[in-house]
Amino acid sequence: MITQPIVLMYHGIVTPQTPVPRERETGADLYDVTAENFRAQLEWLKKNLYRTVTIRKNLDAFSTREMLLTFDDGEMNNCTAALPLLKEFGFTGHFFLIAKRIGKDGYMGWEQIRRLNAEGMIIGSHGFSHEILTNLLDPQIREELSASRKYLERNLGLSIESISIPRGFCDDKIIRMAREAGYRYIFVSEKLDGAGADCFSRVAVKSSWTIDRFAQAMQGSAPIREKILVSCKNGVKKILGGGAYDWVRRMMLKIK
Ligand SMILES: [Zn+2]
Repeated sequence: MITQPIVLMYHGIVTPQTPVPRERETGADLYDVTAENFRAQLEWLKKNLYRTVTIRKNLDAFSTREMLLTFDDGEMNNCTAALPLLKEFGFTGHFFLIAKRIGKDGYMGWEQIRRLNAEGMIIGSHGFSHEILTNLLDPQIREELSASRKYLERNLGLSIESISIPRGFCDDKIIRMAREAGYRYIFVSEKLDGAGADCFSRVAVKSSWTIDRFAQAMQGSAPIREKILVSCKNGVKKILGGGAYDWVRRMMLKIK
């Protein structure tokens, strides 16, 4: 039974001219989608009669052709490359911002974020500093969740209702604390068991994806090899916890 719409998770939408933000984490380029591929993916969605919806709609009642597009990290290319394409195809997206990086080199400033909002896009939080929340003490987690929401609300004059949990590490406590911090919609990487209807799992679109792989994702399937890799990765994440997993991942990327 389908209980939630498909939610795609993007990061950078890049062009040859896109400068790489200095504060980016190692390995972030795995999730860079070229503007050319992004266009092809939107074309595929259009051709297959998909429509984007947002948290403004009642997400309990959605059709199988309704889906959500989300963008994490708030890089400048979200405004310069993703927004024009979304507008061209008549799609709407959710943009989750790292509060501390707003206006920093390679990231959107308030002017660009206001433009997204004026174009009907949804603005949400992606934490204050992009720290892995499961590594932090409770008061720090609370601060990451609350301060980012208040900072965005104060500067934009908007009500910030949604958060995407930074870097894929989440547990029941983080979900509970996000609710307590005032978020009504919580976007995660993989859905936790019994997490509730306000919690949305997402499919991360990768730079390596062909249009066929994209189509497979939209049909809810992944090649078996990839499935095995993902379940191994999640197992290692669980065993090692945020900090150690992140360290191993960085080392692996260096070796590669
Ligand atoms: Zn992120």
